[in-house]
Amino acid sequence: MDLNRVVIVGASLAGLRAAETLRNEGFDGEVVVVGAEPHRPYDRPPLSKKLLAGEWEPDRIHLRQPDTFDDLDVEWRFGVAGAGLDPSAGILHLTNGTDITYDGCIIATGAACRRLPEQSRYSHVHEVRTLDDAMRLRAEIADGGRHVVVIGAGFIGLEVAATARQLGNDVTVLEGAPAPLIRGLGEEMGAAIGAMHEARGVTLRCGVQVDRLHDDGVLLAGEDGAEGELIEADIVVVGIGVVPATAWLGDSGLQLRDGVVCDETLNALDVDGSVVPGVYAAGDVLRWPNPLFAEEMRVEHWTNAAEQGAAAAKNLLAAAGRGAGAPEAYAPVPFFWSDQFDIRIQFLGRASADDAVEVVLGSTQPNEDGTVKFLALYRTGDRVHGALGVNAPRWVMKMRGQLMEQASWHDALAHAATLA
Ligand SMILES: Cc1cc2nc3c(=O)[nH]c(=O)nc-3n(C[C@H](O)[C@H](O)[C@H](O)COP(=O)(O)OP(=O)(O)OC[C@H]3O[C@@H](n4cnc5c(N)ncnc54)[C@H](O)[C@@H]3O)c2cc1C
Repeated sequence: MDLNRVVIVGASLAGLRAAETLRNEGFDGEVVVVGAEPHRPYDRPPLSKKLLAGEWEPDRIHLRQPDTFDDLDVEWRFGVAGAGLDPSAGILHLTNGTDITYDGCIIATGAACRRLPEQSRYSHVHEVRTLDDAMRLRAEIADGGRHVVVIGAGFIGLEVAATARQLGNDVTVLEGAPAPLIRGLGEEMGAAIGAMHEARGVTLRCGVQVDRLHDDGVLLAGEDGAEGELIEADIVVVGIGVVPATAWLGDSGLQLRDGVVCDETLNALDVDGSVVPGVYAAGDVLRWPNPLFAEEMRVEHWTNAAEQGAAAAKNLLAAAGRGAGAPEAYAPVPFFWSDQFDIRIQFLGRASADDAVEVVLGSTQPNEDGTVKFLALYRTGDRVHGALGVNAPRWVMKMRGQLMEQASWHDALAHAATLA
């Protein structure tokens, strides 16, 4: 396959890492990166933490320092989006009506916030996905004294709740499930994190269904069709998850199922399940079978986006005979972190709803000084499946080998005991 021009769609973490890797691997053809936002690539995790808190300004969150930007020799097209892809002709259509022909394409369009009906009609309702979103919310909560209602107790909802509370706001979190963070950590550990929020002054209401947004706040669903309780709010933040940004690929013939469906090497598949030569994907937008966990995954976390951007670029080069060796399966132990108040959560592996969980070091109960530190392991069958550390970076990182090996539960417990 001739590989003269590679186009990367999405100019954020996965897209940038893909461009950097193409150059680091010696690709000397054209690289064009198309990004819907007007900004150069920036880091999203601070948007709900230090940037939202006003501790950092936007110039602290560049993903690549401005003075090294030109070194990449990449053509950046900011403020314009991919509008369609024709893989058989090798053409990317753009929203400004122009086309780009390509030999290789990496799709890195990430995800966008899931919204509630009529959300954009309400000026007091916010979401946090982009720098512009975060700056808008920051201006509202910076001085404290407001009642902030967060809908959704996922990671971003809880991070926003913690930041808003630390700025002196009253914060209520509404969650439909019985505990926060169930999808990421399971019910037991999610409830433990929820208790830490309550101890720090957040009002947490789980098991409540939001009916709709309201001029004065949020209306809960009532019983038997009756109007439910009105939760009054000055500011509402909707944190009910994300949807992968694939709408623009509707006519592409690519297989789309809650993400761009790829094979183990991150090569996109068509609707018949055949690989689409030259088209790869990376980051939050992508669903692929992780051979290490024998599970199809779509991961919405930083480390995965960065590593997949690099892996997609390497595999594109390898498939075109421009890299060392053949394309390789992408088989990581997934990892993420989240900072909420003084709580640093780190998770390696996966948490499934039916995993058994055991706290093996430390305790979910606060120490005398109010801090919490523990390591919990997740078990599927007789294998270790995940490791959660709260304020325990060394303990959790030292479990990586066990997860790589898919160690037995017995061996994982024995290894954890050596870390105390
Ligand atoms: C507020 C917040 C806090 C987070 N905190 C953490 C954390 O603490 N730990 C952690 O592990 N992860 C965290 N994450 C997740 C992490 O930031 C994401 O996993 C990561 O940004 C994904 O990178 P990406 O490049 O795949 O997608 P994105 O960062 O979503 O970027 C995709 C880009 O593509 C653009 N785009 C979309 N459609 C098109 C199109 N058609 N054409 C061109 N461009 C398009 C988008 O505008 C966007 O700029 C956080 C995310 C958010 C939003």
